[in-house]
Amino acid sequence: MALVKTTDMLAACLRGKYAVGAFNINGLDQPKALIAAAEKVGSPLIVVEPGVIEKYVDFEDFALVTRRAARDAGVPVSIHLSHGLSLEQCERAVLAGFTSVMYDGSKLPFEENIANTKKAVEFGHAHGVAVEGELGALGSSFVDITETMTDPEKAREFVERTGVDILAVSIGNSHGFYKGTPHLDFERLSEIRKAIEPFPCYLTLHGGSGISEEHFKRAIEEGITKVCIYTEMCSKGRERAIRWYGEHPDYTGNYDTCDMTAEILAGFVEYELRCTEMFMSAGRDEKLPDLLNAIPENTCPGPDFPSQPALNPNFRNEGKFWDKF
Ligand SMILES: [Zn+2]
Repeated sequence: MALVKTTDMLAACLRGKYAVGAFNINGLDQPKALIAAAEKVGSPLIVVEPGVIEKYVDFEDFALVTRRAARDAGVPVSIHLSHGLSLEQCERAVLAGFTSVMYDGSKLPFEENIANTKKAVEFGHAHGVAVEGELGALGSSFVDITETMTDPEKAREFVERTGVDILAVSIGNSHGFYKGTPHLDFERLSEIRKAIEPFPCYLTLHGGSGISEEHFKRAIEEGITKVCIYTEMCSKGRERAIRWYGEHPDYTGNYDTCDMTAEILAGFVEYELRCTEMFMSAGRDEKLPDLLNAIPENTCPGPDFPSQPALNPNFRNEGKFWDKF
């Protein structure tokens, strides 16, 4: 089915009342494994590179590998940059072939966030790429900051003035592992959705690792169509690699790193498949407009029929195509 626009995928989610997993990668073997697993359960997916990973995984390499896998995939796939660290980084991702990018100005003052996000939107839209913005700071298990939740009225103003296609909200969600049970403010989410309803903008939930199935379903009811997943996949991969080494203490072959990589991938996929159930995206691989396999315009046309010489014996061919022969 192949590479699709992120917004086409999110529109299908909204129509069908499910969400799609936005799975973060940090290695080039992961996109193919994630796509292959999604195919098995018929789930669309977004393959994501977070901005902080660019120093490990080159954007062009990631786009090349993922677009190639998407081209042959039996499910809709889109390619996203999460938490773009700067406008320049967003531009690099757009030019590398991502189908959507996020500019994260959530830590900036409101006006500065709007001004920068607007620039990212202008650049993205000029290249047919959807843009995500974030309003309200998320919590994090790495830095103990007080959460600043998204204000619905400010969200409306942000979406209207920037023209973002996707909005990341802060409603009690947090990056990394949660300390205790996460409490999501669904009332706030509902107010945000109502506030941005006049605009073509989808809602996304970051910090998905650790949120319960029940809460995911409630969030989807309130309009969430994209859920970011990273920490739990990495954790499962790490667990499996450690277990594998424990079970093979005397292993001295040259292929142990290959086996360990396979275990890490299996861990990523294990949680991905769980997400496709929780987000109700399994079996939702409906056909969406394909960005790669569309019939290309014929740039090298043959002669018209009936041919010009047949219609006019005095016709002199001045066309470009046949002049080469
Ligand atoms: Zn995030």
